[in-house]
Amino acid sequence: MLKLDRVSKRFNTVRALTDVTVEFERGCTTVLIGSSGSGKSTALKMLNALVRPDEGRVLFEGQQLANVDVHAVRRRMGYVIQGGGLFPHLSARDNVCLLARHLGHSADAANARLEALIAMTHLPMDVLDRYPQQLSGGQQQRIALMRALMLKPEVLLLDEPLGALDPLVRAELQLDLKRIFSELGTTVALVTHDLAEAALLGDHVALFHEGEVLQQGPMRALVESPQSEMVRRFVEAQRGMLRHLEGAH
Ligand code: ADP
Ligand code: MG
Repeated sequence: MLKLDRVSKRFNTVRALTDVTVEFERGCTTVLIGSSGSGKSTALKMLNALVRPDEGRVLFEGQQLANVDVHAVRRRMGYVIQGGGLFPHLSARDNVCLLARHLGHSADAANARLEALIAMTHLPMDVLDRYPQQLSGGQQQRIALMRALMLKPEVLLLDEPLGALDPLVRAELQLDLKRIFSELGTTVALVTHDLAEAALLGDHVALFHEGEVLQQGPMRALVESPQSEMVRRFVEAQRGMLRHLEGAH
C-alpha cells in the first residue's frame, strides 16, 4: 500500500535517513522502532510528504508521492504527530471535528462519526466539551486518535502515540489500539521506542539505528535471530529490564 523505496534524507550535515526501504502492507501494522534520533519520525513524515526524500521514492498504491496531489493523499491518511498536537484553544470536540468542518461536512455527519469514535475509544461523552489541558494524558491521546480517525482514513500514521503516558494507562491504551486496528482493518504505520509495544502491535517491525534500517521482519525474528550485534544489543537492553524483575523474585 505504501513503500519507502531506497530513501535518503539529510538535514545539513545530519544524515537522518540512509538508503531506507520499508513496505507497509495493506491492513497490517508496521512498526518503526529505534532509539531517539534514529530517523523514525523522518521516515513517518515521508509517508505523507511532510518530508521529501533527497534520494529514493515514496510510493502510495504504486504511485510516486512526488507526482500526485499531496493534499488529496493526506486526506486519506490520519496522522497523530509526536506529542499529540491538540490545539489548546479548541475543545476536544472541536479538535476532532475541525478538519471535517473545514471540508464542509454536515454537522449531522460529523456528530454521527463522533459518536462512533467515542464508542470505539471508550471515552465518556463529557470529555468532549473540555479543553486539552483539562484532560488526562490518556484522554488527550484518545482525542488525538479520534481526530486522526475522523475522516475514516485508509492509512493511520502514529508517531509515539503513547509516548508520554504512565505505564498503566499505556498498557490499557496499547490493548485498545490493538482492538481498534483490528476492528478497522486500517493500514497502520506506528513509531515507538518500546519493544513490548512493537511486539504487541506490529505485524512487521523495522529497527532503525542512525538513519538506517538494521533489520526488519516479524518481531519474533528480531528477538530470536538478530542479524547484527546492534540488533542483539537493542533487544537485550529492553529484555534486560525484565530480567532484573525476574531476578528480584
Ligand atoms: P527519531 O524520531 O527517531 O527520534 P528523527 O527522525 O526525528 O528521529 O530525527 C533524525 C535525525 O534528524 C536527528 O538527528 C534529528 O536531530 C535530525 N532532524 C530531524 N528533523 C530535522 C529538521 N527538520 N532539521 C534538522 N535536523 C532534523
Ligand atoms: Mg521522533
